[in-house]
Amino acid sequence: MDTSAHLDLDLRKETVERWKQPGHRCLGKQRDANYALMIGVSTACFSASQLRSLADLVEKFARFSHLTTAQSVLLVGIAPRNYYLARQAALDAGFQVRSVGRDVFHIKCCPGADFSPFGLQRTLSLVTLLEETFRGLPTPQKFKISLSGCPNCCANTRLSDFGLHAVVKGWKIYLGGKMGFSPVVAQELAGPVSAEEVPRYLAAVLRAYRELAQKNERLFRTIERLGPEPFKRVVLDNLEQPYEDLAELARQNRQALEQALDVVTDAAL
Ligand code: SF4
Repeated sequence: MDTSAHLDLDLRKETVERWKQPGHRCLGKQRDANYALMIGVSTACFSASQLRSLADLVEKFARFSHLTTAQSVLLVGIAPRNYYLARQAALDAGFQVRSVGRDVFHIKCCPGADFSPFGLQRTLSLVTLLEETFRGLPTPQKFKISLSGCPNCCANTRLSDFGLHAVVKGWKIYLGGKMGFSPVVAQELAGPVSAEEVPRYLAAVLRAYRELAQKNERLFRTIERLGPEPFKRVVLDNLEQPYEDLAELARQNRQALEQALDVVTDAAL
């Protein structure tokens, strides 16, 4: 089926409206009139059994799967009647249903020092910890994180809202990057800091962003509006604050969205 020939303005408008809903998890109708589902596993390291489960999901529900630039797997061509079944099957098989809304996304990473000959620090354990703590926390706009195991930055560290790359003595932290139509290169916040300190920096950034951003404002715009130095000062002032409240909010949001199976998209299906 050729899905590329005509610009469907109604579909485009419907998709943009869906993006405005808080916490939505559905990519909505695609150009082939079916649905797509974004799933993944933490660290993007798939075991053989996870790949078998993925093959089962594709075979049962989708036309094919596409590996995205953000290290997610996009199941494409899911018939509308099968969308919730596919989603529940993905959750049951242990996959994350990936965010496409306004919250802390899964983390893009490279294999780091566990595998790469150039790696200076371990990425995989840090990614797991940060995702378990902060993934799903509601934010004014999408919030992307990336980790690279050395300054080569294979995970596009400086094109994320919060990016880290390893150096010999720890991690350098960058803020306010983004890709898209007008890419913005992230600015240095701190470093080198130890792996143990990284969650505190991320919590301090998220707290400042949640408090200071205007509605729907991406982090780079908040930094631009307030000025890099004033924003960094607020972040550094937040550093000593405990962050259990943010972790609990993230946990609740993940749980609610996975259990509710997208109330927002009910009307669309
Ligand atoms: S960023 Fe460095 S450690 Fe990571 S894959 Fe690239 S070269 Fe290897």
